Amino acid sequence: MTIAELSPEQQKDTNKAAAKNPLTAPAPDLWRDPNAKPFVVFDNVTKKFDDFTAVDNISLNIYRRELFCLLGGSGSGKSTLLRMLAGFEQPTSGRILIDGVDMAGIKPWNRPVNMMFQSYALFPHLSVEKNIAFGLKREGLADGDIKKRVANMLDMVQLGHLGKRKPHQLSGGQRQRVALARSLVKNPKLLLLDEPLGALDKKLREETQFELMNIQEETGVTFVVVTHDQEEAMTLATRIGVMNTGNIVQVGEPHDIYEYPNSAFVARFIGSVNLINGRIIEDEVDSVRVKSQDMDAPLYLNHGISCAPGQEVNVAIRPEKIMLSRELPEQTDNRCEGTIEDIAYMGSMSIFRIRLDSGKEIRVTQPNIARDMGARFTWNDRVHMYWDVDSAVVLTS
Ligand code: ADP
Ligand code: MG
Repeated sequence: MTIAELSPEQQKDTNKAAAKNPLTAPAPDLWRDPNAKPFVVFDNVTKKFDDFTAVDNISLNIYRRELFCLLGGSGSGKSTLLRMLAGFEQPTSGRILIDGVDMAGIKPWNRPVNMMFQSYALFPHLSVEKNIAFGLKREGLADGDIKKRVANMLDMVQLGHLGKRKPHQLSGGQRQRVALARSLVKNPKLLLLDEPLGALDKKLREETQFELMNIQEETGVTFVVVTHDQEEAMTLATRIGVMNTGNIVQVGEPHDIYEYPNSAFVARFIGSVNLINGRIIEDEVDSVRVKSQDMDAPLYLNHGISCAPGQEVNVAIRPEKIMLSRELPEQTDNRCEGTIEDIAYMGSMSIFRIRLDSGKEIRVTQPNIARDMGARFTWNDRVHMYWDVDSAVVLTS
């Protein structure tokens, strides 16, 4: 299901939630405007290496000032798509346009694009300042102008005090920022980043994600970022394109991808999810009822789908949307009962693995709002699980 297929109420809700998100709010939401002109267009782009199809007929629009993330597992075609945009690979078929111009036959250095590589590729014998100034020098800019632009860039990446150092005298995170400064100093219209934070450890990575977003907002440059890390994509992106075996299987804002995945693959790839297999037993315009072998109560969802009567589907419910109770809940749909097999205390939340009588495992997370939350339920307890009518989605593929 795409956002366009949601009811007007649901659309309003997703928009509201996205607008409230301080991380995505400042970007102009051009992708929501049907009349907006896309900045980057992939038009039926395919890339084959001999018989192997690395990118399979992808069509995708990216808009000005987006921080667009290509997210997918290893080998799904992310880097190939990015390299074609940079001009390092030629499409086997299809067209790529940047700012309305067909890029066929245009060399990488003549495109309004810069690419930051994972290895950063800094010159080891040059200072930070000289690394950043390198491209400007080659363009023959006046010394005074170069100095000013390098100083501005250094300030932006918060390395003003380290301009004289050599790359080996910097931490991994600082080197990453030098590389970013160097790729932004020439004012590209489009910056491509392939796993930009891949070399950083987890904590530094998280901090750097926020910096990257701030810099992107400040400069207004359109970013296309490749990552295999779904949390990173969720944090950074205005929109995410989820890739699988050379295809883009879903495009949407992080919130849409998480709340309204269009397939079991996307639901599993982004975050943790329970998939309950069943059959449609009631198909109304804006609701469906599903019967699963795994639970006595039917599953009832307040959104319509298009499918054959009796079709086999998966109902996807996120662990944090399931409530736990010792007493039988009043609702007659969307509930089940099981035995707690395992509890993982994570500090801010606890993860419960609960076994239904059918043998199916359900995963539930509960925020630890109070200090003694963990004591409420324990191993081998019988518990009821239940959720709201709008908490789950039906997936037909
Ligand atoms: P990702 O970046 O998503 O990990 P890539 O785009 O690098 O994936 O690669 C997609 C697929 O294309 C992989 O199976 C990879 O082995 C293959 N591939 C990439 N570049 C080449 C090449 N130059 N020659 C042959 N196969 C390639
Ligand atoms: Mg790659």
